[in-house]
Amino acid sequence: MVENSIRIAVLVFAFVFGTVIFSFLNVVIYRLPRKENFITGRSKCPVCSHVLTFLDMVPILSWLALGRKCRYCGARISARYACIEALGGLAAAGCIARFGLSVYTILAFAMCAILTCIGFIDHDTMEIPNGLSIAAAVTGAVAIFFTEGVAWYEHLIGLAVVSVPMLVIALIIPGGFGGGDIKMMAGCGLFLGWKNALFSFFTAAVIGGIYALILILRKKRGRKDHIPFGPFLCMGVAAAMFIGDLALEFYIATLLGF
Ligand SMILES: [Zn+2]
Repeated sequence: MVENSIRIAVLVFAFVFGTVIFSFLNVVIYRLPRKENFITGRSKCPVCSHVLTFLDMVPILSWLALGRKCRYCGARISARYACIEALGGLAAAGCIARFGLSVYTILAFAMCAILTCIGFIDHDTMEIPNGLSIAAAVTGAVAIFFTEGVAWYEHLIGLAVVSVPMLVIALIIPGGFGGGDIKMMAGCGLFLGWKNALFSFFTAAVIGGIYALILILRKKRGRKDHIPFGPFLCMGVAAAMFIGDLALEFYIATLLGF
């Protein structure tokens, strides 16, 4: 009973912590592609430039309480900001629920934050800032010492197992993959190790393929239109982090019969 309430309290605290961190990521996602400083400078309404107070910036709650509008100019605020904050809450609580209280949990949450920035910035601008791929690689390098069940050389193979084939494809088919996609998958592969890196790529290809098919069937886009692949890679890496081991175990046990 007591253990359960402590567990719930920890998860609630983690959720709130996650929303606050990802609230800051909203700023990063907005300012980083614009080459604006995201460390200093007060948060402003992007429409009326009014400086926001603490009460305007409470994750999720401010957006709901203010009727999804800017308090000063009445401009509608996209649900995306609150959704990213909620995503941060789920990521933090999810990391603790899945990985317990460990160094790896902190690294996994850091990866969730990096992936969220990469995914949304690539969606918005079709570019992945190098700094974010470097952040993924640094997190991956630290993860070598804290990942259970993945040897150091498996991490190093992970660095190349997806990124190098992507690079080869990009050289053969110009515009096949962007340089940003390749660099981020080097960093994420280092974090995941080679098995989960492969799993993340195939998961991304499946989700991206289904999405592209839906768009084509609904005639929203032609076959030639470019859809950024980064957001799908981010989903694939996140899926690999949380369920990659379980999915691979299931696959080997049931489908291959070992
Ligand atoms: Zn405003």
